[in-house]
Amino acid sequence: MSAQVLERASVAQVWTWLEQVPDPEIPVISVVDLGIVRDVAWVDGACVITITPTYSGCPAMTVIRDDIERVLAAQGVGHVSVQTRLAPAWTTDWMSARGKASLSGYGIAPPAQQVIDISGISRRASPALVVACPHCGSRHTRLVSQFGSTACKALYRCGDCKEPFDYFKAH
Ligand SMILES: [Zn+2]
Repeated sequence: MSAQVLERASVAQVWTWLEQVPDPEIPVISVVDLGIVRDVAWVDGACVITITPTYSGCPAMTVIRDDIERVLAAQGVGHVSVQTRLAPAWTTDWMSARGKASLSGYGIAPPAQQVIDISGISRRASPALVVACPHCGSRHTRLVSQFGSTACKALYRCGDCKEPFDYFKAH
């Protein structure tokens, strides 16, 4: 047996490790639960991770890349290549149920299920969309601004507990 032959972690194992990489903007959710990790593959001895950012020009990409390399290096995966794939665009539908639950616990209303018409083409969320308050569960909430702490979130205020909160816009 040659010492040159390194035991290669399985793709499934790499996915498990990636669950330890938090999203820089919402640290309670991992990049896997956020749905931005699209593919894991071994290519010519390198572990290639394909990421679709939540929106193009996402400044967090550099941080995500560094975090992925650091987490995998700690597991002995030295050759990591993080690649970006912009199409198809990320959608909140790729977020896992666990990810959406984590958002609520963090005080952010998770994206509402998109309305699907009979042709199967998703429509934009209706302006009358009801967003439940992540603090008290009330559905008596009001849109304050289309832009919350980041462009992908809208700012709402609860009519019952009066707390403002971010809504992670479905897109
Ligand atoms: Zn409330």
